[in-house]
Amino acid sequence: MLRLWRGRPARPAVVAVLLFLLHGQHPVAAEPATAETTPPDAASAQRQACNRASFRMVIDVGHTREQPGATSAHGITEYDFNLRLGKVIERALRDAGFAKATLIVTGGPARQSLFQRVARASKLNAQAYLSIHHDSVPEQFKALWQEDGRVLSYCDRFSGHSIFISNDNGDRPGSLLFARLLGNRMKTHGLQYTPHYTEKFMGSRRRQLVDKEAGVYRYDQLIVLRKTRMPAALLEAGMIVNRTDDAVLADPERQQLIAASAVEAVDAFCAARGGQRPPEVASAARVERTSARTKKRAVRPVAMKREPDRKKLR
Ligand SMILES: [Zn+2]
Repeated sequence: MLRLWRGRPARPAVVAVLLFLLHGQHPVAAEPATAETTPPDAASAQRQACNRASFRMVIDVGHTREQPGATSAHGITEYDFNLRLGKVIERALRDAGFAKATLIVTGGPARQSLFQRVARASKLNAQAYLSIHHDSVPEQFKALWQEDGRVLSYCDRFSGHSIFISNDNGDRPGSLLFARLLGNRMKTHGLQYTPHYTEKFMGSRRRQLVDKEAGVYRYDQLIVLRKTRMPAALLEAGMIVNRTDDAVLADPERQQLIAASAVEAVDAFCAARGGQRPPEVASAARVERTSARTKKRAVRPVAMKREPDRKKLR
């Protein structure tokens, strides 16, 4: 039993109030809330708090028809994967009542299209931005194989999705909250992220893992994450260079699973950012703000401790 001073043991209610006064938050709410940690009554409060019809969610289809990004182990372009999954997510959002969900599809040269996406999202006054991609690996990890007389590249060594945010985004706490919600929802649906971005062998593509539960990495330089002013995350939905994953990701069942995760994450994020905030999510936002002001480790989320240059942003 916890004792705060000599004498009679403190009653739990008294301890809770004292801890609240000391730390300015509920003692058990040090970790940012996720959909998983939200109790059922608060979950229904979230549903009420999110005005789905007015929430402006943008889904960005990565790459362009002209510059389609990676090529899958079976020879399909990443852009085709991105467009298909982007449409499935947009449809799922609209079916769930997010009437203002918008799919951004651009054409032309890669770099130019990146700035077009950011400009469109700004013009739409988007409240959250999700860029859809499918992953590959550096050339040195690829090998050749033949399928239907075609010589193709593949790498079966890595498997899984990954989520990225930028510390240079206009709303970094919002980006992290949204990315965490998405990663945790994907985990709940049985989808695993790939941990290989933390490995030394990734060289210049090595990334800091900001949240090891949700599979959220930090990638400051990505234009669509750093130039956007609204909360933004980039989802690499899976490794299309992996021969097994390539086939799984082409399956509508997997696309629906990812879309369901995205809808749940958008819903929880919308609730956290609009109307009445459920206490758990509000406290998560307060933790972000408090740590930004005071840098007190006691109230900082665990994952924040792994970000050595976080203060650079303030
Ligand atoms: Zn891509």
